[in-house]
Amino acid sequence: MVEYENLKKVNEPFFGELKKSFEATLESGRYILGCNVEKFEREFASFCGVDHCIGVASGLDAILLSLKAFDFEPGSEVLVPSNTYIATILAVLQAGLIPVLVEPDIHTYNIDPAKIEEKISQNTVALMVVHLYGKVCDMDPIMEIVQRRDLKLIEDCAQAHGALYKGEKAGSFGHCAAFSFYPTKNLGAFGDGGAVLTNDVEISRKIRMLRNYGSIKKYYNDAVGYNSRLDEIQAGFLSVKLKHLDAINAHKRKLAQLYMDNLSDSFIKPAFYEDKTDIYHIFTIRHPERDLIKEYLSEKDIMTEIHYPVPPHKQTALKNMFHQYDYPISDEIHATTLSLPISFFHTENTIREVLEALNGFITQ
Ligand SMILES: *Cc1c(COP(=O)(O)O)cnc(C)c1O
Repeated sequence: MVEYENLKKVNEPFFGELKKSFEATLESGRYILGCNVEKFEREFASFCGVDHCIGVASGLDAILLSLKAFDFEPGSEVLVPSNTYIATILAVLQAGLIPVLVEPDIHTYNIDPAKIEEKISQNTVALMVVHLYGKVCDMDPIMEIVQRRDLKLIEDCAQAHGALYKGEKAGSFGHCAAFSFYPTKNLGAFGDGGAVLTNDVEISRKIRMLRNYGSIKKYYNDAVGYNSRLDEIQAGFLSVKLKHLDAINAHKRKLAQLYMDNLSDSFIKPAFYEDKTDIYHIFTIRHPERDLIKEYLSEKDIMTEIHYPVPPHKQTALKNMFHQYDYPISDEIHATTLSLPISFFHTENTIREVLEALNGFITQ
């Protein structure tokens, strides 16, 4: 049986260090916004090459608080990729803003820079990019548009911890960058967690305030804030995991290379770019007979996933908002994409087993 994911097996190599961290936190007696959160914030900012990091309760909150920190007029428009996990779009809505969807490039699966400007209106205030599956967006053309059109740039880095574009880390391009530490992410906690990165000291102060009831000084509240603090126990665990993130990413990249080198060309593989260091949070292939292949692999006891089966604009929660528009490229990706096993606990032999089965689908 080849599991798609197994979080116990992913984290087992770190159990010793994690238990030590847990005991130290337990003994410290400080369970909210203590030393662990401060330490992890410093470490993660430094890892990404950004000045400030603010730990928050989840990836969704990281996006929401980023948007809130800019005090955009309610009803302003934010450009968001149509091909993303729904959280990106929900955060825009929860911030009281209007998501305007931009189609992806069919090769990168990320927002298509050539399709951004046609969606800019007088009400557009920000562009949100999502580095989907672990591959950074085409940042050169995106940065050019953002600067020329005077937009705020927010990066959703929930799938891109440690990914690079021309040697620069995901999260170092935007006015703000939002990270999730949901347990399955490449840098995964043991419950919920998230963080915002920014080089803007004022924005960092604002987010620090918003995550803690709008308060910097205890019992003095300057804004209508939230309770969205990164948990002290999770922060301790995250410091342990961060030390191993490069090794986790390197392992997943090695497994991805095996797929890239040996998978039949009948499957559409992820596009490879010399200047992008993809961390393969998810390894997706595309094929018109996706559902058949998923079933075929499952009969061989090989588990796969679909990221994602239904595009955001067709979800029950959102479809009334977008029914007058078509997003054919996003639809095409959602209809044909299949995610193969590529977890930290998988071995090269396991991937060879998946490859043999998959390539057999073509010749059967
Ligand atoms: C996981 C994810 C989020 C949300 O993160 P949570 O921590 O679950 O709130 C947002 N955007 C993308 C692209 C994600 O993959």
